[in-house]
Amino acid sequence: MTDFKRDGSHLSFCPPVEEWDDWVEYDSQAWPRRVEKHYQLVPTICFNCESACGLLAYVDKETGQVAKFEGNPKHPASRGRLCAKGPATINQIHDPDRVLYPMKRTGPRGGGKWARISWDEVLDTFGSRIRKAFQEGRGEEVMYHVGRPGHDFIMERTLQAWGIDGHNSHTNVCSSSARLGYLLWHYADRPSPDHANARFILLLSAHLESGHYFNPHAQRIIDGKMAGAKLAVMDPRLSNTASMADYWLPTYPGTEAAVLLAMAKVILDENRFNSAFVRTWTNWEELEADGFRAKGQPFEAVIEALKKHYSRFTPEFAEKESGVKAETVVKLAREIATAGSRFASHLWRGAASGNLGGWQPARALLLLHVLTGSVGTEGGHNLNSWNKFVPRPFKVPPPQKSWNELLYPPEWPLCTHEMSFLLPHFLKEGRGRLEAYFTRVFNPVWTYPDGFSWIEMLRDEEKVGLHAALTPTWSETAWFADYVLPMGFSSERHDLMSQETHSGKWIGFRQPVLRTLRERAGEKFEYTYQANPGEVWEEDEFWINLSWAIDPDGSMGIRQWFESPYRPGQKLTVDEYYGWIFENSVPGLPDAAEKEGLTPLEYMRKYGAFEVPGDVHKLNEKPLSTEDLAGSQVDAGGVITKESKPVGVMIEGKAVVGYKTPSRKLELFSKTMADWKWPEFTLPEYYRSHIHRSAQSASLGSPEEDFDPQHMPVVEWPKDAQGDVYTLLPIFRLPNLIHTRSGNAKFLYEISHKNPLWVNPVDAKRLSNIGTGDLLKVHTEIGYFVLHAWVTEGLTPGVVACSHHLGRWRINEDEKVERMSSAWVDLKEVGKGQWKMRQVSGVKAYESADPDTKRIWWSDAGVHQDITFPVHPDPISGMHCWHQMVRVERASPEDRYGDIFVDTHLSHAVYQRWKALARPGPGPGGLRRPLWIPRVVRPVEAAYYVKQT
Ligand code: SF4
Repeated sequence: MTDFKRDGSHLSFCPPVEEWDDWVEYDSQAWPRRVEKHYQLVPTICFNCESACGLLAYVDKETGQVAKFEGNPKHPASRGRLCAKGPATINQIHDPDRVLYPMKRTGPRGGGKWARISWDEVLDTFGSRIRKAFQEGRGEEVMYHVGRPGHDFIMERTLQAWGIDGHNSHTNVCSSSARLGYLLWHYADRPSPDHANARFILLLSAHLESGHYFNPHAQRIIDGKMAGAKLAVMDPRLSNTASMADYWLPTYPGTEAAVLLAMAKVILDENRFNSAFVRTWTNWEELEADGFRAKGQPFEAVIEALKKHYSRFTPEFAEKESGVKAETVVKLAREIATAGSRFASHLWRGAASGNLGGWQPARALLLLHVLTGSVGTEGGHNLNSWNKFVPRPFKVPPPQKSWNELLYPPEWPLCTHEMSFLLPHFLKEGRGRLEAYFTRVFNPVWTYPDGFSWIEMLRDEEKVGLHAALTPTWSETAWFADYVLPMGFSSERHDLMSQETHSGKWIGFRQPVLRTLRERAGEKFEYTYQANPGEVWEEDEFWINLSWAIDPDGSMGIRQWFESPYRPGQKLTVDEYYGWIFENSVPGLPDAAEKEGLTPLEYMRKYGAFEVPGDVHKLNEKPLSTEDLAGSQVDAGGVITKESKPVGVMIEGKAVVGYKTPSRKLELFSKTMADWKWPEFTLPEYYRSHIHRSAQSASLGSPEEDFDPQHMPVVEWPKDAQGDVYTLLPIFRLPNLIHTRSGNAKFLYEISHKNPLWVNPVDAKRLSNIGTGDLLKVHTEIGYFVLHAWVTEGLTPGVVACSHHLGRWRINEDEKVERMSSAWVDLKEVGKGQWKMRQVSGVKAYESADPDTKRIWWSDAGVHQDITFPVHPDPISGMHCWHQMVRVERASPEDRYGDIFVDTHLSHAVYQRWKALARPGPGPGGLRRPLWIPRVVRPVEAAYYVKQT
């Protein structure tokens, strides 16, 4: 059996570092002759998902160009391995349709006409507009909106240096729900499962093939399986992940928490829980439920109260809700209890991001970890903050003084991230405007729900004064920008990355490969775009230069943060920014570099990654030092405070750090929920989703008795919506596609270019015997889309599914962008707020610098479904709840493949109905949100309080 080693040395096919300067392979094109090819190998970091795996760029010594990408064996997380999307970076950098120069629109917004301009013009234009906005006190009109960050901390630093509350992200269409479930327990909003050392692994959704930290996790899940761990997968679809599992649990969507709580009940009732752990590390003494108050009661009484509280979650109830057999629930609960501290799990999107109340499955899942004592253990659940390392740069600006309600509005005080997908509705309601709007690797017109509302916002020059799309690939959003600014892919930019991929801590260094090599050879470049193809730049240098353009003489106090730490008053370079971090902020790196006679920066440019030493488990048990304790106080609950802030907790007579929750323990009972108007959710609960069958019957005018109008939005179908009601799962990934950035990655599109509607044979029969390939019309609450059916037994009856990542489109054929991956469409506003899209042509072969474009054999680009979805903000987490009820019927003769219709008046009405479910702040003491809950780019504490007028 293979001996797996952490450093990847068992992977004999990876070239050894000593040979990276002259790696020799035979030229496959010259076969059968043996012609040597000589390469220089340069490490960088993949940019094609959040995992940040290590790439090795093979630079052909003869041409000086990158010839291919493979895995970096020195990367602690990916260990030399990649998924299909890593090597496809080569397609992205050599895409013959890619944008190589900054472009400015030449006609009206959205007219699809562009002309090349210089970077200096871009910096002058944005620098002066932003400077004026800041000088006039309109800082909140400057917004940075990011899709794929691909970096750690540099943007937070930039925005705080500008003194504004202007960071927007995509997180509320991605992972906010799961984050809320996790953070209510232990502040950290992400899990870091130790799959490799687990005995039982429970995955909610398809993590083995496409999930969060996909490749690093997948290889460790398999490591765990090979060492004997059992794998269970909860997913309505028979995904590739489910097909690898020992147990597939095809839960009806939105019922996952019912199954998890039933498992918890089994473990509690059978007294198989880790009593010592629960007693020591949860805030059981604060529990209040069903008239029971734990204060002054013994632990045993609290356990009895918990048993009583969860008594309704019988395995039979779980079966009724989810469709998973009661005996399976019991069997798995026992296996999880047996795995004990070696129980690992993962939940990120799927059940969490699809459903109203999708944060409850994360909370219920963590209850299983708490009961088994598998928090902070080898083979268990760890906190992301224990396994992720973000070093500090040389100078950190103070927090901003303002609070931007376009980002954190009063209606959703507990949202974990910015309410980004509601921005068009906020502007429509007159809550503000944007003077300068930067979208960065972000394509809301295509990836967000309700894309036509985004188009209406972006084309309105009153609402959005100036819009720059910073992007490595063309996008649907770019059509509606004023400037399209080409930014680099993995091998064309600098970034520092770290993720909680496993039980370990590491940093990875993304670098512009050609610049690095040419500088090694003695050339000098002021900016990365001088070494990249065309004038493709990188954000780091862009923001430094823009900051100087905003504050050229330093009088606004901005420029100081972008001056060199080594050359006072001079402009900061990326070498200096990262060099300082590597020299001063990464423990162990200077020593490791010195041993090789390198500077820390040279070391990172050579290896591309570094494993940071230190503990990665049970950091909650870290003792507080004498210095930490000086001037501190201990309250009746054992919480240690210093200067009125909790800093630790007394555990068995010892002062330790604990968790960063108010109780400094794992919060089984959340007083925060009660304080913020949700007393019914102080404990982990099952919150029925908006797609629950009771909501479905209510949407048809015949509510069942158990329909819960207090928590459920009302659904109103458009007049012409016909057909039976189904639950649509629209968010599963195809493993080889990358949101917007797959465009023109030819290897990837050749594999996947179609997103049919998955229909169970039972439902196919109901739909007047449709077959695979038949055309279906899918009605949402705001419009419809038309696509082909795929009849398959691979999902639960009553549910239909359509993958995202497909259905790309372009509105102007002349601009020659994204021709391998997008359909050319006719886009019309047929009435005010009524949008119609029809495909003019699909993908075709074409002439270009790449001979492969003549060999394109596929014509399908898929169908864009997201643009027909209304917004569904969860009233608590703020997450967009992606799953939805749809009505499905056979398409009529007038309907054509790819047809889309949306009425944005309807989408605004749906927004209003969901908004009405929220329970707005302020909370206790006039707070906008709880002080203890994390916030992106955190402002000063005073900004948390609503100003009294
Ligand atoms: S999982 Fe795949 S796409 Fe993601 S970083 Fe790794 S190689 Fe790249």
